[in-house]
Amino acid sequence: MPAVRSQVLEVVRDAYPETFEGLKPSKPLGESVFSGPTPHPNQVLNLFVQQNLTSALPMAYYMATRRGPRSLMDRHLPRNAALSPEILQSAITGLMALREMELNETHDLIFESNGAHPCPASNCPSRSPTGPAASAAYRKVFNCTVGSSQLGTKVLQVPEFYEDSGGELQCVGPGICSGCVGRWESGHAELRKKTWAALPGVFGLKS
Ligand SMILES: [Zn+2]
Repeated sequence: MPAVRSQVLEVVRDAYPETFEGLKPSKPLGESVFSGPTPHPNQVLNLFVQQNLTSALPMAYYMATRRGPRSLMDRHLPRNAALSPEILQSAITGLMALREMELNETHDLIFESNGAHPCPASNCPSRSPTGPAASAAYRKVFNCTVGSSQLGTKVLQVPEFYEDSGGELQCVGPGICSGCVGRWESGHAELRKKTWAALPGVFGLKS
């Protein structure tokens, strides 16, 4: 049994890594690592709390909260997916902090990262970052990045800055050049790294 336990723990550690550097893009993340019917993230969170799997808790909290309050408090879930008031409090507090971080930092990244350095590309709206074309494009990109996470958060998800437009990849913000998108991509990678490091504090897991 100890061998089985340590193998299981290894799989769990890969799917719920403790550090940003521990993320392995080729491995399944979160509850998709479990075989059979995928458990609800609340069930995984409860299990990890019971088992005292401290290193996996920040990610387990994130996976449960990213779906928003309705999922956290869903009354139609099996009993082992119901969260205790203590866990629920940490989850909701953490969700609010993550959402605020996501909105503020994404806003600064998209609307202000070009402010000091207008884009040199001749067709890019960021040539005049405060002009109406740039503002309209930035707003579209911002809404795409944070928009559909109205109730939860997707701050740790890699955003899609491009969309397929008649077989060609184009930025979701009309006319934005690849140089500007590249700046946003690396800025968002920094945000994900920073957010990851903040998870234990955000969910009250640090004493
Ligand atoms: Zn540009």
